[in-house]
Amino acid sequence: MSKNLKEKQYYEDLYDSETIEDCKRMFCNSTDRKFLDKEINKYKDKKSASEMLNKWADTVDKIGLYFFKGDRYRKREETIREWMAKDRNRDQKLENTNLENIKCKYCNTLMDLIDKDYFPKNIEPLEESILFIYSCPKCKKSRAIFENNEEYIPKKVLCPKCNNELDVKGNATEDKLITTYKCNNCDYINIDEIERFKPENKEIDYEQFLKNKKEYCLDDKEGMEYVSQSIRLESLTKEFEKDKEKEKQKATYDKIKELNKPKIFDLQELLSKGLEKYKFVKLNFKEPQIEKFITIEFTIYDSESSRSEYDAKNILQKQIEAILKETNWILMSDGISYRLGMLSGRLKAYEREEDLVELVNKRFKDLKPKEEKIDSNRKDWVVKGANGEDITL
Ligand SMILES: [Zn+2]
Ligand SMILES: [Zn+2]
Repeated sequence: MSKNLKEKQYYEDLYDSETIEDCKRMFCNSTDRKFLDKEINKYKDKKSASEMLNKWADTVDKIGLYFFKGDRYRKREETIREWMAKDRNRDQKLENTNLENIKCKYCNTLMDLIDKDYFPKNIEPLEESILFIYSCPKCKKSRAIFENNEEYIPKKVLCPKCNNELDVKGNATEDKLITTYKCNNCDYINIDEIERFKPENKEIDYEQFLKNKKEYCLDDKEGMEYVSQSIRLESLTKEFEKDKEKEKQKATYDKIKELNKPKIFDLQELLSKGLEKYKFVKLNFKEPQIEKFITIEFTIYDSESSRSEYDAKNILQKQIEAILKETNWILMSDGISYRLGMLSGRLKAYEREEDLVELVNKRFKDLKPKEEKIDSNRKDWVVKGANGEDITL
């Protein structure tokens, strides 16, 4: 049972007519350019001002229309898929929702299900529920029940004069629907007439629709072109943003370039030589741990026998940090351990650009771009208002 889901063509046409309507409303209403007339009136030579401004407005329209059409194309497939999924779900829910054992209120006979469909249980706010219609095979009375087993009670129409329940009769002519409300208690009577909806000539409409579609909806070739161009534009914009950020952090990036980035073997040499001056010897590197960062555990011996544990740890830490300062390596924050003159700790390397930015900015605090401060004394941003008051921009 597919009461809601329709052929894909239906959704495609629906989407395209929305696109057409939006395009017409937003971009091609050049007669509605009242603001242009206002602008044109400011010029002495109205003719050339009108030419110039209209040309300008046309261009803005064309550019806007180009992007709008492209964007509609981009979202088309996904939107149609969502619409169809929604209707498919409604159908599935309708099919899978059932009531059981509904009996006639008058003769207690098991009733037959005549129909079930979505019904607006409430209009404001809209609340839908599945309504089941049952009929009694024996006494022909009927019942209407919502999916939550609530009985549907049709609203009574009351007489505005005496509050008596009105008699409602419907009548249809070729071009009108006539409803008569008549009170049996007083003289109240009201006749409501509604013009019947006349279906327009669908074929002519569809031809016009196809014409409009050609003008306002991109076909697959144009659409794919738009999508690939806008992807290119997006990546260019990203590059540009990245360059701008780099420019802002120029000092940081220059510093990264300057940093010494020793290989593990060279690092060992560098530390070994530097630390020997302070009587730390036999530097040994363990197997490097390779994860997101490379970390290396090291051991080294204090050859100055009179030095205290506190001094040895302190001096070693300071010296390692001094040697590593202009490199991409750090002494890890778990610090230095000490046992019987053997000291150990861990080193870590920064390799990726974003990690190096973080490292350099942390280590050389003065390189970071300063937040722009707004100087409240800046006189050039204060203008005089119409009544002579100061307006700060
Ligand atoms: Zn019955
Ligand atoms: Zn009445």
